[in-house]
Amino acid sequence: MPPAVKDLTQKVFGRLTVVRESAEKAGQKYWLCRCLCGVEKPIRGSSLRGGYTVSCGCFHREQVRRVDGDQVERMLRDGSEVEDVAATLGIHRQSVIVAMKRRGVSIADMKFGLKKTPSESDILYTAGIFDGEGTIAINRNKSAGGGPRWWLLASVANTDMRLHNWLQQTFGGHIRVNSRKNPARPCYHWTLTSRQAADFLRLLRPFLKIKGEQADIGLEFQSLVQGERNLGRANRQQKLKERLQNLR
Ligand SMILES: [Zn+2]
Repeated sequence: MPPAVKDLTQKVFGRLTVVRESAEKAGQKYWLCRCLCGVEKPIRGSSLRGGYTVSCGCFHREQVRRVDGDQVERMLRDGSEVEDVAATLGIHRQSVIVAMKRRGVSIADMKFGLKKTPSESDILYTAGIFDGEGTIAINRNKSAGGGPRWWLLASVANTDMRLHNWLQQTFGGHIRVNSRKNPARPCYHWTLTSRQAADFLRLLRPFLKIKGEQADIGLEFQSLVQGERNLGRANRQQKLKERLQNLR
């Protein structure tokens, strides 16, 4: 016997009052709700009970309208996290994301700049390592909805963890370990992505002897990502990805 469905009729969730049961969608229980603004709409029961949906959508639209896009973008570019911006402005974090989407700005691309500038000797040392063991790639983002979206990646693979710890301390980024090929001698990958990768390549560029051209393509790619939204951007990004692949 299926579990009894809790009757939500007349219950209030934010601006919504449940009117009656609605038809199931994809095996999920829905309830017809009337919003304070007058709109009636079926809403999933779990979204109501979990507090995820509090209006027909009008509350969220009001929030987004209230957002000062210039201010949000400035705060994010200065390094604030989405949550900090949302808390400071008293809005939902989703409103921050939507406001930036409307400006054609990707938050992932602007909030991960390098935290500090390393010394010139550290940069020289790293350029040598990167020429030998570095990789520059443009990878496809699998999770993004809509059209294709790629992101820039700079990484170093090595079996000595100490090098990667130093790289991470100096430039930031992430380390992951791959022990599939040889469990006795795991390979470490130190990785920077998007804007952080571009900042890194820009620092190294004057000293690269082998991967200079690849770095130039990576930087051009990232400038398209961070630039204004324009038609044909995805095409130009794909062309750069192909040029980069042909260099290897
Ligand atoms: Zn409403």
